Amino acid sequence: MTTAARDVSVFGDAIAHFNEAADLLELDFGMRQILTHPSRQIIFSIPFQRDSGEFEVYTGYRVQYNFARGPAKGGIRFHPGVTLDEVTALAFWMTWKCAVVDLPFGGGKGGVTCDPKTLSSNELERITRRYAAELVEVVGPDKDVPAPDVNTTPQVMAWFMDTYSMHVRQNVTGVVTGKPLEIGGSRGRVEATGRGVTIAALDQMSEMGLAPERSSVVIQGFGNVGMYAAKLFADRGCKVVGISDVTGAYYNEEGIYVGAAMEHVAKHGSLEAFAGGERITNAELLETSCDVLVPAALEKVFTAENAPRVKAKLIVEGANGPTTPEADRIFKERGIIVIPDIMANAGGVTVSYFEWVQDRMGYFWKESEVNERLEDTLLTNLHQLRQIVNTRNVSLRAAAYMLAIERVVKALKLRGIYA
Ligand code: NAD
Repeated sequence: MTTAARDVSVFGDAIAHFNEAADLLELDFGMRQILTHPSRQIIFSIPFQRDSGEFEVYTGYRVQYNFARGPAKGGIRFHPGVTLDEVTALAFWMTWKCAVVDLPFGGGKGGVTCDPKTLSSNELERITRRYAAELVEVVGPDKDVPAPDVNTTPQVMAWFMDTYSMHVRQNVTGVVTGKPLEIGGSRGRVEATGRGVTIAALDQMSEMGLAPERSSVVIQGFGNVGMYAAKLFADRGCKVVGISDVTGAYYNEEGIYVGAAMEHVAKHGSLEAFAGGERITNAELLETSCDVLVPAALEKVFTAENAPRVKAKLIVEGANGPTTPEADRIFKERGIIVIPDIMANAGGVTVSYFEWVQDRMGYFWKESEVNERLEDTLLTNLHQLRQIVNTRNVSLRAAAYMLAIERVVKALKLRGIYA
């Protein structure tokens, strides 16, 4: 994504997608006002000590966008590009994502503006603990339940949970999800977002008559989402012809051996110098001929500039907000189907919900049970979206927002506005 593209408000783009659906629902002005304002935005300083003994200060954020359907829910991002605008947009999307798959959660998101690549494990731990300590009063299993996002791992969640538990003087595993299995994590959580991407993609491919064994897939981003999506596409017989990460992109017409790419990342920390494909640029990767294209990195990847050159038949948004409203219009005109982020990557939050339920029960499910429930949740709601697409003649994105907005509005109306 270009710097210029990121300069445009991410939250502004998010509202544009929302407005399209709000118009179709003929949502009144007051409700639009309520739904386009975050409930709470928190900004704070995170002073921390470098291993060298020097002090630095980073900025931390937590946005609790909406609580109508339950506690706020959403990840924590550690990245140099984190801003209040971005975190607000991500919290806004979480509200609709939880609603579109019918989870009893509102929306939230957090972040720290930092570059984890420049931090040692001890420095990362100190930042995480200070971040968690700043939020002790406003998070909790019935208030706001964070989770991993870009550059935050199960280990980061473990430090968050431990810090919170120390402050409240009891073990509260349900304060975050995405934890390691040994301390209240759920089986299947690590792969859940990638698994959800492939579940939604394969269902849509079957609608479009694309047989997995004759379909090619390109994936941008080879982190938590992209890596497991690539593995599961390959397991289902699809040919993964292109992959990339921040260090570069690789193309192999015969199909990339995903297992080798995963091993390369495990050993070297990135895809840099991966020998399993021809080196191309990240921009070229997005314009490669393929059946299915999965953006699984950051926002604003598809813009008015590159959307006319995208050759995929189906785009499955593993990342949040990869398509600008202009690019979305171009895809629609060109007949490219897009499974929107709030549906396509909802697998992660769905299994996060299962983790929260298991923590509260203190009883943990088998992986097969988690995966079955995940597939059922995603497909039940994806099929509802298709019904809206067919009856209202709208895109899957508009249908997803319509279904989600209707569910949140219903909850708000039942609760009433405490004005
Ligand atoms: P991650 O940090 O594990 O991986 C991100 C990947 O993107 C890395 O491989 C990184 O190198 C790559 N990347 C970054 N900038 C890039 C660029 N300019 N070009 C190509 N690749 C680039 O993060 P993740 O958890 O996989 O999240 C990826 C996206 O999916 C984000 O938009 C996130 O919000 C979204 N998401 C994640 C989850 C989850 O459960 N992890 C759930 C829902 C949505």
